[in-house]
Amino acid sequence: MTAKNTIPKKTDLILVAGAGGFIGGALVRNLAAKGFTRIRAVDKKPVPHWYQVTPGVENLCLDLADEANCKRVVPGAVEVYNLAADMGGMGFIERFRIECLRSVLVNTHLIEHAWRAGCQRYFFSSSACAYNVKLQEDPHCRALKESDAYPAFSERGYGWEKLISEMFCQEYWAERNMQTAIARFHNVYGPWGTWDGGREKAPAAICRKVIEAKATGKHEITIWGDGQQTRSFMYIDDCLIGIDKIMHAENLIATPINLGTSEMISINDLVSVAEKIGGIKLKRKYDLTAPRGVAGRNSDNTFIKKMLGWEPHTPFSKGLLPTYRWIEQQFKDRQAGKQTVRDIN
Ligand code: NAD
Repeated sequence: MTAKNTIPKKTDLILVAGAGGFIGGALVRNLAAKGFTRIRAVDKKPVPHWYQVTPGVENLCLDLADEANCKRVVPGAVEVYNLAADMGGMGFIERFRIECLRSVLVNTHLIEHAWRAGCQRYFFSSSACAYNVKLQEDPHCRALKESDAYPAFSERGYGWEKLISEMFCQEYWAERNMQTAIARFHNVYGPWGTWDGGREKAPAAICRKVIEAKATGKHEITIWGDGQQTRSFMYIDDCLIGIDKIMHAENLIATPINLGTSEMISINDLVSVAEKIGGIKLKRKYDLTAPRGVAGRNSDNTFIKKMLGWEPHTPFSKGLLPTYRWIEQQFKDRQAGKQTVRDIN
């Protein structure tokens, strides 16, 4: 297969699916800031509930699990970014496996119609949850490299959906010559992310709990699991840089690649960083019955450094600061009865 070295013009139509959510919303804002003048943003949530709405963008509320809607949104799109998925933190993906699996419909229909419409490049947001869970049973297990997805033993539901959708992306390149890009995101955090409602991930949840403890004067925090589970957390700005680099790398077509930091953080460490930002020390209570996910996970960045000469590098303590401050403001706004980022998926 021969790769076409195409870089979109600022006047080309760019489609972002899942634009009402955290990463999709940030991507739309970022594309507009770079000067793209024709952005079509799609999400199944009503537009007033989108996390970010960027001026000058065509915003559509459509369910992309419905094939007719995929067919409707792709005409003219030179690039398609698929960030639409029913997802959340461990509490969500362990409980709602069917919803997670059903996201396969979005990618299946969107990639087919993107191909039929002659789209030049297609991006799929995969996840570290696609990796074999047997390699993640110890908090200090070795970092995951790309080949660790097979033999397959993904996170039930969410992880398997990512793995099969990756395969679609690989085959649309192999059989039909459409240039696809596949990034396996490790946990992404930052301002404008989900911070309550049940879909929030650990960094936002812990910040919120510290903020709540300060506000209520009840100086204790409940931590899911024993607090020793580890993850790597990527700041949203790194994620956006990585999406752009991976989407336009000729040497990465249809090649799954880690997009995460290699800084391994335990949940206990995370609490300490949030406490430091909040200027408080809390009594820690551990809920050993709560969802905790795999025991340990980190990103092996050997491949991304080799292919892109770059890796996500924002230190966790640096990225958590604006995240904490943003959640703190959201918390105050909610208490004052103002509209905040909502979760009505
Ligand atoms: P998010 O929940 O904030 O955004 C996803 C958006 O997709 C939501 O607004 C949702 O309404 C929309 N969506 C879901 N089903 C849809 C459908 N059928 N039609 C149209 N829109 C639909 O999640 P996010 O954190 O922005 O994640 C974006 C992508 O990155 C997802 O594919 C997710 O699996 C992947 N990912 C995220 C993380 C992370 O830490 N945030 C980690 C790994 C992978």
